[in-house]
Amino acid sequence: MNARGGDQSLATQPTPATGKRKWYQEGLSFECTQCGNCCSGEPGYVWATKDEVKGIARFLGRPDDWLGKEHLRRVGLRYSLTEEPGGDCIFLERKGGKIGCSIYSVRPLQCRTWPFWTGNLRSIDAWNEAHLTCPGMNQGKHFSFVAIEEVRLQKSW
Ligand code: SF4
Repeated sequence: MNARGGDQSLATQPTPATGKRKWYQEGLSFECTQCGNCCSGEPGYVWATKDEVKGIARFLGRPDDWLGKEHLRRVGLRYSLTEEPGGDCIFLERKGGKIGCSIYSVRPLQCRTWPFWTGNLRSIDAWNEAHLTCPGMNQGKHFSFVAIEEVRLQKSW
């Protein structure tokens, strides 16, 4: 699963309270290498709330406070950012060998909370599977259990 590969609901559902120690109780490391894998590749969904859509629209200076079809699609009752035909997120920028997010400061919660999603944290196998496409996992900055849980359970920003 990459940052667009799963159901965002996995990112917000608490795991059952079993009282057992979680496998990541000692914390985990993560530091983004800006490889762009989570914003490209297989098609997926980058869910955005209405407030997030409005925030992106304002950031882009759109007069109508909303994104057009080139940036946003309706999926059932929800909204997802669109993708380029090759799979890049519509806001992924590739310039001079560098990769970046053109709306980084207003990116949706789904992007902000990667890789500390409930789905990735369900088991060490799930975490390691996500690590196959995200080289930033298991390296760099150490996050305590409490810090991870804060990110995992974050509902808005
Ligand atoms: S290191 Fe991980 S979070 Fe950073 S761009 Fe690559 S896949 Fe995405």
